[in-house]
Amino acid sequence: MSDLYDQLNVPRDASADDVKRAYRRKAREHHPDAGGDEETFKAVTHAYTVLADPQTRARYDRTGDDGTPRSRGAGQDPFGGFGGGGFGGGINDVIDAFFGSAFGDAAAGGARGGRVRTQPGRDVLVVVDLTLEEVVTGVSRDLEVEVARTCDDCGGSGSLDGSGPARCGDCGGHGQVQRVVRTAFGQLATAAPCAACQGTGRNVSDPCPGCAGEGRRATKRTLQVDLPAGLEDGDRIPVRGEGESGRQGAPPGDLYAQVRVAPHRVYERQGRDLVAEVTVPVTQAALGGTLAVPTVDGDEVEVPVPAGTQPGDVLSVRRAGLPVRGGGRRGDLKLVVRVEVPTGLDHAQRELLADLAELRGEPLAATGNGLFTRLRDAIQR
Ligand SMILES: [Zn+2]
Ligand SMILES: [Zn+2]
Repeated sequence: MSDLYDQLNVPRDASADDVKRAYRRKAREHHPDAGGDEETFKAVTHAYTVLADPQTRARYDRTGDDGTPRSRGAGQDPFGGFGGGGFGGGINDVIDAFFGSAFGDAAAGGARGGRVRTQPGRDVLVVVDLTLEEVVTGVSRDLEVEVARTCDDCGGSGSLDGSGPARCGDCGGHGQVQRVVRTAFGQLATAAPCAACQGTGRNVSDPCPGCAGEGRRATKRTLQVDLPAGLEDGDRIPVRGEGESGRQGAPPGDLYAQVRVAPHRVYERQGRDLVAEVTVPVTQAALGGTLAVPTVDGDEVEVPVPAGTQPGDVLSVRRAGLPVRGGGRRGDLKLVVRVEVPTGLDHAQRELLADLAELRGEPLAATGNGLFTRLRDAIQR
């Protein structure tokens, strides 16, 4: 066997990137699907597997051991002998690692024995509207979703007889067709996706009518999703495996229920606390008393109003706020006090208030000690 560096046409001190680039070029040139010679292709691929791994490359430089039976003694798998290279599976894995876009499904599935490059299904996002009350209790919800799932008629193969997609005849399975265009710099070969197979390199000869050969089709389903207590706007609950089905047996994507919490008529959410405004008559604010307040749980709690409560004071009801996802102490309900000044007083009420004003030395007409006087004094100072 000739020198591995010669096979890739790189100098002995070539960098890892140079080796990779050289291999890419050689592999395209000699790929059997592209009409190349299979033996040459295997040889350059072998050269690459040795030189790509710093360990095996160093061993080769030192001893000439390229991992083949001839150089290492009989009976060893030429590719299995290498540990750290990540190419234990042999040629196919090397190709897969490299030609994700260029050869795609075709290279993997076409010529080399039905090994199909699969494509996992995509994740799907579904928005779920919750009320604040549902955030408190948690809720189980039936979600109607319509996503691409494996076609029942053909079992996902895309063809009626179950044979599945075969190599596309138009592009020979490459998924790309070469075109030569004239440019100012001369002739240029460009590759364009194959129209017959939409660039996948594979198509179905007797497409399943249920899915038009896709193997998957839009399917409406109802999924039950458990939404625990304490969720917040924007939270996502994953439902594993319920997204789009993968192609050709690849794993499905996940479904995510994304939470949207509707604003509440009374309560405003602040983290785990709930905030609401309560109106307290001026008499109660002055004398003290109790308020009956509905909670988000649907209960009613009696909240003491201390004598002398001021506008803007906050009365807290501990643990009447929101639960925390995954447990922990519930938040509080915070009541911001608005003091209501009475209007439309009748004669008796006016008398009472006037008496109060007099008793407290709060004259109703402007006098020396009034607010205005104090303001004026403050400004003039
Ligand atoms: Zn089908
Ligand atoms: Zn094609």
